Amino acid sequence: MKIQKSLRLQKLPPYIFAQIDEKKRDLLSKGKDLVDLGIGDPDLPTPTPMIQRLAETARDQKNHRYPSYGGLKEFRDACAEWMQRRFSVSVDSKTEVMSLIGSKEGLAHFTEAFVNPGDFTLIPDPAYPVYANATILAGGTPAYYALKKENKFKPNWSEIPDHVWKTVKVVYINYPHNPTSATVELDIYAQLVERAKRFGFIICSDGAYCEQGYEVPPPSVLQVPGAKDVAIEFFSLSKSYNMTGWRIGFAVGNADLIAGLYQIKSTLDSGVFQPVQWAGITALQGKDSELIQPSKEVYFYRRELMVKGLQNLGYEVFDGGASFYLWVTNPAGRTSADFCSQLLELGVVVTPGSGFGKQGEGYFRIALTVPEERLKEALKRIPKCS
Ligand code: PLP
Repeated sequence: MKIQKSLRLQKLPPYIFAQIDEKKRDLLSKGKDLVDLGIGDPDLPTPTPMIQRLAETARDQKNHRYPSYGGLKEFRDACAEWMQRRFSVSVDSKTEVMSLIGSKEGLAHFTEAFVNPGDFTLIPDPAYPVYANATILAGGTPAYYALKKENKFKPNWSEIPDHVWKTVKVVYINYPHNPTSATVELDIYAQLVERAKRFGFIICSDGAYCEQGYEVPPPSVLQVPGAKDVAIEFFSLSKSYNMTGWRIGFAVGNADLIAGLYQIKSTLDSGVFQPVQWAGITALQGKDSELIQPSKEVYFYRRELMVKGLQNLGYEVFDGGASFYLWVTNPAGRTSADFCSQLLELGVVVTPGSGFGKQGEGYFRIALTVPEERLKEALKRIPKCS
């Protein structure tokens, strides 16, 4: 029997991170030393208070059963209090918040809950691949808005004609932005909310890196008055608290959007292991100065080192002031994929910009998730930009 994948799966482009991982493993199995600046996965440890809370609560038998689909009341309350403290945004923890097994899962399931076959979604280019892939899986068609260097990788909404706004079902937005590290001011969200109301589309905002602004704390779309009528926002504990492996995040926003997400998730998964939620509560209620700031300082230092080092080698580096990514222009006349393959052979793993969309061609992304000595080693291996 010839086993056939579903047509939906066949339509998906290969997942870029999985492809790089395969090549990387192959080289590692041959004994090659690689400085891995490929994936945005913090190398720093999860702070001790979360580990302690996990350990304590894991000993309590009542945490061993199926969790509730939407998250513990205490977890949802902690999310709502955090929204208030961080953004001065009030949300009802019963109807406007839910737990996620990481924000990737939430973003994908949200898309499945709201995008129909034939629907269009509007997605940043370049972008984290999940928005487009989830759209394709739902039978929809992704359309793109370009984020350009001359605009510091911020959207220019006035470039998008009215007929596009009229046909689109969901607009995705992600700031601080992966892969470019760009940030936006509240006004960019306000202009989008105004259009969402005028044309009748949903805003799906991905705030996975919202705690990683170096100068100003990045805003939330929900700070725009009335945004809750049209928007849902996804947050993650992965990056800011070094908890990528724990799989915990949350969605906040319009009650109908949360209800749709709840409906699909309760059909497909069974919530977040309760001790992980208790650890999440510890994170959200903790002091940023103790739980987030120390890692940010490490990234800040690494960032300076790498920006200077790459500039000395002749590269143009975009520093948007947030996240642990650098967005670097690759040598003229080379494709990103070709240049990144060369770097891999030289023992440095980076992600080709083209994997994030057409506008990413000509760039590569560096994740600052290795210690300083390894960054220095990478700088020795990366050739001069010529
Ligand atoms: N959103 C963006 C922009 C990301 O870069 C990532 C992970 O790299 C995620 C969401 C998903 O993070 P998690 O599922 O760990 O919350």
